[in-house]
Amino acid sequence: MEGRMTSQVTCQVTGYDYHPVKYALSWILWPVLFIGCMAITAYGFSLDMPIIFFNLAYMFLIVSLFLLEKWMPHERAWLNPDGQNIASILHTVSSKGTVQGLLIFGGTIGLLGLFDNPTHGIWPNDWPMWAQVCLGVVAAEFGLYWAHRLGHVTAFVWRFHAVHHSVTKLWFLNTGRFHFVDSLMSIVIGMLILVVLGAPLDVMKWLSAVTAFIGMLTHCNVEMRFGWINYVFNTPALHRWHHSKDLKEGNRNYGENVMIWDHVFGSFYNANYRPPTDIGMKDYMPRAFGKQIIWPFLPVSAKQRLEPDYEPLPFIKEDI
Ligand SMILES: [Zn+2]
Ligand SMILES: [Zn+2]
Repeated sequence: MEGRMTSQVTCQVTGYDYHPVKYALSWILWPVLFIGCMAITAYGFSLDMPIIFFNLAYMFLIVSLFLLEKWMPHERAWLNPDGQNIASILHTVSSKGTVQGLLIFGGTIGLLGLFDNPTHGIWPNDWPMWAQVCLGVVAAEFGLYWAHRLGHVTAFVWRFHAVHHSVTKLWFLNTGRFHFVDSLMSIVIGMLILVVLGAPLDVMKWLSAVTAFIGMLTHCNVEMRFGWINYVFNTPALHRWHHSKDLKEGNRNYGENVMIWDHVFGSFYNANYRPPTDIGMKDYMPRAFGKQIIWPFLPVSAKQRLEPDYEPLPFIKEDI
């Protein structure tokens, strides 16, 4: 960066001018928002009201990002409407509903009881809660990482994950835009690891909160800078590469919360040039929510009956 005689700061990578206050904010926003949300949730745990306080923190994050995206966007072009708001909201609701349904079903058949008082597994229950949460995040991330990576290198799983990648801009509203089958697959794999290890329910609750906060931050269109944080946590900077149409950039950074497994399995990507504005995917995806839900289940002939111009592209397994 270089200072100017004016009140602007010019970024040498992007060539964009920034107000000095916005530039300073861009360095602290991610840690301040994340730690702030975690602190509100921790206060809720101390009062034995974690769900109410988690929801308060989540609303605070949504409102903050909504305003910040307007005031200091990373990509101005992504402020324009893409006609996918309703579809993204409906995917968020259907995915969350499916996961809630799974938890109620798990409670009904007694599966969640395994978390209440685990007597199996090798979980270190005597560790302080913060250390148990860190372990839970890293352990569950192993499952989330592989569920996500499979979604990119397996033609069948990609059909579902493609719904998330069909957007042409990134902003906070895309956070929960997942086909419900995609959400179901990753939550089952991530939770299964914690069940097998014998993690307690509080660790699961904390993991859900961490995933919600980091996921919302990851998709936001706010100008932020990260430094070393990029090497530990999933950030908007890393996730913008993941949404690139160029699979050499896109099939990277599979981590949902932390990047440890991307480092271990060689998929970490953080180039020093600006990620593309023109993001998305080359495959076709219908624009309407209902069609997006049934699209992954349909054979090519049925897709062509629904959308006569549809021509399937060969699945490219661009793995590292
Ligand atoms: Zn992906
Ligand atoms: Zn994404």
